[in-house]
Amino acid sequence: MPEALAFFRGNVVPLADAKVNVMTHAMHYGTAVFEGIRGNWNEDHGKIMIFRMREHYVRFLQGCRMMMLDIPYSADDLCEITTDLVAKCGYREDLYIRPLAYKSAERVANLKLHELASDFTLIVNPFGAYIDAEGAIRCCTSSWRRIDDTIIPPRVKISGHYVNSILAKTEAVLAGFDEAIMLTQDGNVSEGSGENLFMVSNGVVHTPPVADNNLVGITRDSAITLAKRELGLDIVERNIRRSELYLADEVFLTGTAAHVTPVGELDSRPIGEGGIGPVTRQIMDKYLDVIRGNDPDYADWCTAVPLESW
Ligand code: PMP
Repeated sequence: MPEALAFFRGNVVPLADAKVNVMTHAMHYGTAVFEGIRGNWNEDHGKIMIFRMREHYVRFLQGCRMMMLDIPYSADDLCEITTDLVAKCGYREDLYIRPLAYKSAERVANLKLHELASDFTLIVNPFGAYIDAEGAIRCCTSSWRRIDDTIIPPRVKISGHYVNSILAKTEAVLAGFDEAIMLTQDGNVSEGSGENLFMVSNGVVHTPPVADNNLVGITRDSAITLAKRELGLDIVERNIRRSELYLADEVFLTGTAAHVTPVGELDSRPIGEGGIGPVTRQIMDKYLDVIRGNDPDYADWCTAVPLESW
């Protein structure tokens, strides 16, 4: 049977035993860095396909550098720890893999990163759809602005900066929308609360530059690659204003959890025809095929994990 396990303090332990003290620094201040990685169940091969795992760990280690989180593992070590844990858990369904490096020092009232011990933990959870909506989703422009690089570096996944995303997502859902789109302090479109954003206008795909404070998304990179290579489309990275989204032919969001999600409506205005546009549809279909390990051209994006038998 599948077993809920965690990698904790250097060992694989039952998830229920992976516990920290309430004095843990990260719990008080969000001094941690995490990743969200998907393991996609491939029924035909009887394997979990982990999508772009190494790229996730490269970004993870960049975040660790920024937050002075010293952990004794390289990207290769982290990949090995992950495949081992996924194999041991034995889930035969889609997974969300969550590594976390955190300031583990049991000290409060200390704001000096360099004085605080760090640790690493990893958990694996069964995970289906992230956004609870069929087809194209309804978004609003958030009243919360996206954090700026001058405040907390937004390009990596620092736990504390997710308060910004959480405020935006909560506001959107309580107001009856599926997702929030956040603007920079200057009013440029940045991204969704947990997704990068793309806009299609007159057959050209546009996306905001990373300098507009979005996360350097791995799905963003995958969508850009697929749009160029598979569909022969031009991608333009440039500042996008809110009103351009109202007039776009298509808007879609990308993220590990959200995959490629079409946006059908923004601030109660339909985008294009209000459904799933043709460019979005093609990128979405290709992406969903690729992440399950069904396309040999993108085999190097997937790490196949054979499961231990039970
Ligand atoms: N932006 C934010 C704020 C996110 O949390 C995520 C999800 N990790 C993304 C964008 C998409 O990034 P990725 O495609 O690497 O999952």
